[in-house]
Amino acid sequence: MTANVAAELRLCSRCILPETFPGIKFDGEGVCNYCRREEKALQKSSEKKVLYRNRLDNLINDIKGKPPVYDAVMAYSGGKDSSYTLKILKERYDLRLLAITFDNHFVSPIAWDNIRTVTDALGVDSISFSPPWPLVKGIFSLAAKRDIFPLPTLLRASTICTSCIGMVKTIVLKAALEMKIPLVAFGWSPGQAPIQSAIMKTNPKLIRQNQMALLKAFPEDIRDGLAAYFIPDSYYDEYADRFPYNIHPLAFFDYDEEAIKAEMKEIGWQPPEDTDTNSTNCLLNAFANQCHIERHGFHPYVWEIANMVRQGVMDREEGIQKIYSEQNPETVKYAKEKLGL
Ligand SMILES: [Zn+2]
Repeated sequence: MTANVAAELRLCSRCILPETFPGIKFDGEGVCNYCRREEKALQKSSEKKVLYRNRLDNLINDIKGKPPVYDAVMAYSGGKDSSYTLKILKERYDLRLLAITFDNHFVSPIAWDNIRTVTDALGVDSISFSPPWPLVKGIFSLAAKRDIFPLPTLLRASTICTSCIGMVKTIVLKAALEMKIPLVAFGWSPGQAPIQSAIMKTNPKLIRQNQMALLKAFPEDIRDGLAAYFIPDSYYDEYADRFPYNIHPLAFFDYDEEAIKAEMKEIGWQPPEDTDTNSTNCLLNAFANQCHIERHGFHPYVWEIANMVRQGVMDREEGIQKIYSEQNPETVKYAKEKLGL
């Protein structure tokens, strides 16, 4: 998709969703049905944010200092959103934190620098987890070629991203269960995940179902290799009382991309120049976006960015720029070649 595609495509006059987005309808004012559906909820959003901040304060008061080693584990990519979330958890709540980076073999060199710099500056323990490349390559090259997950996932993310995030969630949850960590933190932007799910106790039954569904989406040869990374069956009984809370605080803290970048720069985080407009840490993302756009006719981040425009945390023009500019051809080529495609 190139910049002039935005001029050719009809976009919602409020949120930037394109006419190619599944299920979209525009009314007489050119506003889409998704925007209309959100109107009421948005009016109440500032009250809701206060409510959720209080809920998190209370939850943290209850658990802080009680677990043996860590109060919270953070799914840490080194990107700006997860770095900022880590900073909130450290500075506002003074939690004992473990940052886990899922090394998908496409973490950018600048992101590795940022991971080290930020965890050093905040005084946070950090580990990375990396399954062997042949397994990861098998997963991503399959996801680059076809959509293996149910349709609703495609509205919010590319198949490559969904398979990667599935692994991230599994690995941090497993660490939480094994180390008795009661909080699992994610750096979802306010457009990526709704406030309703921002503080949620994980449900072992549901997790088990999700894990099975995720695993089943893969063909047998990959499934066999992947199964070892999933939550072992015995954990659902043995650790039934350890299932943690998932939190994504950026849904209810003030969110301004430029302000966040500036604040992160103060502790040494640097904006990467080696990725694309939607990711500050992953060298696979541009290719994942391109595969999705070619197959479905809309950008896999458009749902997230449209939400942010609608919520007023991002400019409409900036959103259009992010979504309707071309993927960096160098980054696309790098990922394609590395995957042997
Ligand atoms: Zn709209």
